[in-house]
Amino acid sequence: MTALDQTQYSVLTENVRMKRSSGRSVIYKKKQEVLIMTQNEQSFEEKIRTLQKWIDESENTVFFGGAGVSTESGIPDFRSVDGLYSQKYDYPPEEIISHEFFYAKTEEFYRFYRDKLLAPDVKPNKAHLKLAELEAAGKLNAVITQNIDGLHQMAGSKKVFELHGAVSRNFCLECGKRFDAEYIMEHTPVPKCSCGGLIKPDVVLYNEGLDDNIVSGAIKALSGASLLIVGGTSLVVYPAAGLLRYFKGSHIVLINKSATAFDKNCDLVFNDSIGAVLDRIKA
Ligand code: ZN
Repeated sequence: MTALDQTQYSVLTENVRMKRSSGRSVIYKKKQEVLIMTQNEQSFEEKIRTLQKWIDESENTVFFGGAGVSTESGIPDFRSVDGLYSQKYDYPPEEIISHEFFYAKTEEFYRFYRDKLLAPDVKPNKAHLKLAELEAAGKLNAVITQNIDGLHQMAGSKKVFELHGAVSRNFCLECGKRFDAEYIMEHTPVPKCSCGGLIKPDVVLYNEGLDDNIVSGAIKALSGASLLIVGGTSLVVYPAAGLLRYFKGSHIVLINKSATAFDKNCDLVFNDSIGAVLDRIKA
């Protein structure tokens, strides 16, 4: 125990002792809660120091982010139970955001897309901002993300591999002309090009393959990294699980609100908000 730990411990046990008159079972329960609480608080501070040290020492750090990074900006995760499943739609989100559905029921696709995925008013959160700061300070080499909201670039990150594409990019299926998100928002119900062609978001839908160039860029970044920080993803699903095996560096840090099956493979695990953790790091 460090000096600080000892102090906290005695203060807390003192509190427990003062409650002795209230009966044995209560005392026991209180003491357990107190001990668990101190342990978590101490380890959080220690873990922050470790993460800071590893970032400062690392020659090549890469961040890999999942839906949890965006949910802290208020963007719902349509894969999570408390996400869009509870919303009222005639089809489940994963069916709407599929390759087949886009062509079969384009109007319904765009209704959902504008409503749930375009999210024009969202802003980068503390995690996006800190990652951009770290890159500018030469302490972060690349961001690899499964999110499509473009918030990393909005925060100032330059080297971003968007595995699932981005809502800010849309193109005509006939002539290839590019359109921004605003054009999609304004041209209802189905956005068309001046040539008459259908416009499709540059987003990887279910049953579509990932972009080869982006995947190879992400693999190159991962295989050259010595420190990997993973945030807001359980890492157990494709493509994260497959990509992560290219990482051959020394430390993997996982920041995810809930515990995951991947925790045991990591050198440092925070079951906390990614914004709250990264906000404590100095660039
Ligand atoms: Zn066109």
